[in-house]
Amino acid sequence: MDPDIDRIIFTQQEIERCTDRIARQINADYANESVIVISVLKGSVLFFSDIVKKLTVPCEMDFIAISSYGNTASSGKPQLKKDIDADICGKNVIIIEDILDTGKTLKSLCDLLKRRNPKTLKICVLLDKKVKKACEISADYTGFEVEDAFVVGYGLDYAQKYRNLPYIGALKEEIWKK
Ligand code: 5GP
Repeated sequence: MDPDIDRIIFTQQEIERCTDRIARQINADYANESVIVISVLKGSVLFFSDIVKKLTVPCEMDFIAISSYGNTASSGKPQLKKDIDADICGKNVIIIEDILDTGKTLKSLCDLLKRRNPKTLKICVLLDKKVKKACEISADYTGFEVEDAFVVGYGLDYAQKYRNLPYIGALKEEIWKK
């Protein structure tokens, strides 16, 4: 285990089972349909790629970047950094995001994409934090519920580090409180 990690919260095997389960649900929900899956950069990239490899429904991939964070604290003002290329009007869309925390990021992303009139818009998150949400928002597909710790690995970073860890772990407090 990486020395900066306090404890592993979800192992590689647990994550593998979780992406199997979510891909199976998506394949069942979109049988006979196609879907545009949008990865919210950068945190969802590993989760996104594990899921899309398991999709059997026809899909297009796209990427969006929105940011509301410094290193650990939400400023609460999500900003669009990179837009998708696809025209989503009349299409089935699934947003794939790393963490649903206060919900501000996903709320602003959903509001933005809804204005483009997709046929359907669903949310898939790797982690749903057990915290009070600032907005009315919930995920249609959830990997895991997680305690309110600062987590890294499997795409999630602290100051752009730890994204490559194959598991999800709580970062030692002395690292992020420095
Ligand atoms: P929200 O807008 O829901 O409060 O924030 C969601 C975003 O905050 C996530 O997409 C993620 O980038 C970031 N975030 C929230 N909690 C954590 C955490 O524990 N670890 C990491 N690495 N990012 C987090």
